[in-house]
Amino acid sequence: MKKYDVVVIGAGPGGYVTAIRCAQLGLSVACIESWVNDEGKPALGGTCLNVGCIPSKALLDSSHHFHHIKHASNDHGITLTGITIDVNKMVSRKAKIVTTLTQGISALFNKNKVDWLKGRAQLLNNKEIEISPQHETHDEKTIVAASHIIIATGSVPTKIPPATVDNKLIVDSTGALAFNAVPHRLGVIGAGVIGLELGSVWNRLGSEVTILEALPDFLSLVDRQVAAAAEKSLRSQGLDIRLGAKVTGTGSNNREVTISYNDLQGRQQITVDKLIVAVGRSPNTAGLGVAECGIELDRRGFIVVDEHCKTNLANVYAIGDVVRGPMLAHKASEEGVAIAERIAGKPGLMNYATIPWVIYTWPEIAWVGKTEAQLQAEEIEYRTGSFPFMATGRARAMGEMNGLVKILADAKNDRVLGIHIFGANASELIAEAVITMEFDGSAEDLARTIHAHPTLSEAVHEAALAVDNRTIHL
Ligand code: FAD
Ligand code: AMP
Repeated sequence: MKKYDVVVIGAGPGGYVTAIRCAQLGLSVACIESWVNDEGKPALGGTCLNVGCIPSKALLDSSHHFHHIKHASNDHGITLTGITIDVNKMVSRKAKIVTTLTQGISALFNKNKVDWLKGRAQLLNNKEIEISPQHETHDEKTIVAASHIIIATGSVPTKIPPATVDNKLIVDSTGALAFNAVPHRLGVIGAGVIGLELGSVWNRLGSEVTILEALPDFLSLVDRQVAAAAEKSLRSQGLDIRLGAKVTGTGSNNREVTISYNDLQGRQQITVDKLIVAVGRSPNTAGLGVAECGIELDRRGFIVVDEHCKTNLANVYAIGDVVRGPMLAHKASEEGVAIAERIAGKPGLMNYATIPWVIYTWPEIAWVGKTEAQLQAEEIEYRTGSFPFMATGRARAMGEMNGLVKILADAKNDRVLGIHIFGANASELIAEAVITMEFDGSAEDLARTIHAHPTLSEAVHEAALAVDNRTIHL
C-alpha cells in the first residue's frame, strides 16, 4: 500500500491548491479526484473550473460584450448594425477556456510532483482511503495510506421537491451554462449570487427573465444601500425580480414549464421555456464514508471543523464548500494553504474577517467586512463615507456612472470595518479594501494613499475622505 504524508480528497480550488502547497513544503502528497468531464475524461479543477466560477464568468463576459456593443456603442459614436449572437460559439469558447485551465492544473501537479489518483475516494479510517475507479475503466479498487487526510469534496446544487431537474427544460447551474439557444422565456428560482449571474447572462442575450425569490428582501446578505442600488439597476435591465415568491410546484410538457408560487397576493403561475433552479448548494459527502468513520456532521450536512479546519477525527481536516463559511473558491484555497503550512510546522492562519465577496452582475457588487446592519446589531459605533461613481472622471469617460463606494469605519479609532462597492470593476477595486482591512488600516490611511487619476479607484479614495467629511469632488 502506498503511503503519503498528505492525501487530499477533491481537486477543486480547495483541494488542488492545498496539494500544491503541501508539495512545495516538501510533503509527499496525492490528490484523489473523481470528476469526469463531458468528453468522458477525468478532469481536475472541481466545480469552480468545470461548472462554476470560470465558465460562468466566460459567459458573463461574452454576454456583457454583446449587450454593451448593442446598447452602449451609440453613445460613443459607433454605429453598428446586424449584430447577432452565435450561442454555440460562445459556449464552445467557454468550454475551451475550461479545458485549458483544467489541463493547466494537471501540468502544475506534474511540476510539483503531486500524484493525481483518479477515482472516487471513501474513507476507511483516519489513515486509509479506498479509491474506486471511474466507471469506464476496469481498474481494481486500491487503498492508499496517509499521515494526514484533507477532505475538499465541495458542494453540489441543492435540490428542491417542487422543481425536479430533468436537464431538458428544468436545469441546475450546470445545465444553464450549456444552453444551445437563447430561451425566449426563462425562469430562475433563487435570486442569490448564482441565480442573478446566470439570469443576467441570458437576459443580456435576449431572454425574458423572471426570477422568483422566496425571501422578501433582495440580497439580504448585502449592505442595504448597495442592494437597493443593484436591485434598481437589474430591474432596469429587464430582469423581472419577484420577491417573497415561494415556488411550490412545477409542471412541464415537452415544450414549456409552468411554475406555481405563492406570494402576498396568493397563488400565482408563470410559464417559461426553460427553468434554472438556483436555490443554493449543499455539502458533498455522499459515499465518502465520513459518518461511518465517526466524523461529525452538522444538521445541514456540513463537516464540523474547528477554526483550523480540524474535524473531530485525529489528523483529518476539511476545507472549502464542505465546511461552514462562505461558499467561495478563494476561501477554500486559503483554508487549504493554512492547513498545509500547519502540517509542515509553520504558522498557517486564515483571516475569515477579510474574505471578499463578489457578485458578477453588471455593474458588479463587491464587499469585504461588515455591513451597516451587522454593526448596528453588534452595537458598534461607526462613521460612514460614501462616494458615487458619477462624480469621478474615469466613470464618466467609460460611461459607467452607475455605482458607489461606501466605507464603514470604527467611530473610536477610524479602523475600516467594511467596504461595499457597487459599480463597474468592483471585483478588482475590492482588492484595495481587503488589503486595507488585512493591515488593520484606517479610513485615514486610505484617504492619505495617492490614487492614480483618472481611475475608478478614486471613488474609493473619495469615500475614505468622506468618512471625515472632506471629499473634494462632491
Ligand atoms: P469543489 O470545487 O466543489 O471541488 C470538489 C471536488 O471534489 C470536485 O471536483 C469533486 O469531483 C471532488 N470529489 C467529491 N467527492 C469526491 C470523492 N468521494 N472522491 C474523489 N473526489 C471527490 N466562487 C467564487 O469564489 N467566485 C465565483 O465567481 C463563483 N462562481 C460560481 C458560479 C457557479 C455557477 C457555481 C456553481 C459556483 C461558483 N462559485 C464561485 C463557488 C465555487 O465554485 C466554490 O465555492 C468552490 O468550487 C469550492 O471549492 P471546493 O474545492 O471546496 O469544492
Ligand atoms: P444562494 O444560497 O445565494 O445561492 O441563493 C439561493 C436563493 O434561493 C435563496 O435566496 C433562497 O431564499 C432561494 N430559494 C430557496 N428555495 C426557494 C423556493 N422554493 N422558491 C423561491 N426561492 C427559493
